[in-house]
Amino acid sequence: MRHLPGTERHDELVETLKNFLNAQSSTPATTRYCSRCGSVLRYLPTQFWMEGAENGWNIRLPYCADCHPLPAMKETFVV
Ligand SMILES: [Zn+2]
Repeated sequence: MRHLPGTERHDELVETLKNFLNAQSSTPATTRYCSRCGSVLRYLPTQFWMEGAENGWNIRLPYCADCHPLPAMKETFVV
């Protein structure tokens, strides 16, 4: 099987991303504040799917309702 250039770097990146997503999804939601206006941040449930992966990740992304008043209720990112 031919080894494509850049495949190893891609695998490394995928592993790093998986670790990051696992860490994020297991982190309990804590009260955080907007660095711009100081409002309490809300959490937007977000699904991450990785190509070829069986399971996605449900991650709460913090957002500020004052700085970003109209976020989509649910975004899906495919990486
Ligand atoms: Zn804000």
